[in-house]
Amino acid sequence: MPTIGVLAIQGDFIEHRRMLDAIGTESKEIRLPKQLEGLDGLIIPGGESTTIVQLIDIYGFRNPLRKQVKDGLAVWGTCAGMIVLARKLLDKRPEPLGLMDIEVSRNAFGRQIDSFETSLDVSGIPGPPIHALFIRAPLVTNVGANVQILAQVDGDKPVAVREGKLLATAFHPELTNDTRVHKFFSDIAST
Ligand code: GLN
Repeated sequence: MPTIGVLAIQGDFIEHRRMLDAIGTESKEIRLPKQLEGLDGLIIPGGESTTIVQLIDIYGFRNPLRKQVKDGLAVWGTCAGMIVLARKLLDKRPEPLGLMDIEVSRNAFGRQIDSFETSLDVSGIPGPPIHALFIRAPLVTNVGANVQILAQVDGDKPVAVREGKLLATAFHPELTNDTRVHKFFSDIAST
């Protein structure tokens, strides 16, 4: 059984913990880099990516996180968390951590459709489509050779991607009652 940390410096970390509780996976709120030790997985929640990155740097998470990922820590970023994980952003701010070989554009669905809901088939997740909530969501604009696209909207826009033990979703499974994506990540973290 994995232990999953939820980065608890800004954003909807409480909702992620509620989902992990629901599937019986042990979770911890992570506020300092030394708390990363001994974790199997880490969730970087949705919120405001500029604030999350600012606090990541203030608390000194950048290098320890890079090291833990190299040593096999699984990480899942939802929405702002996806932005934080990216290798490159099409926006000026923030400076992403570069942990995952994806290029991302923030608030990519434009003002008109700021937030929306849709049904999504996510590769690797059995059962009916996922009810996906997008809130000022980012979009993956390019992926490296080792990145697998798990789900797309409008036919060709990636919104769920995986690279080894790293997972990123532009939507928010933690704001629904469907625990399947949390189960999927918990299984990745257990391997
Ligand atoms: N638009 C936010 C950002 O750029 C992300 C929104 C979210 O996490 N729901 O950080």
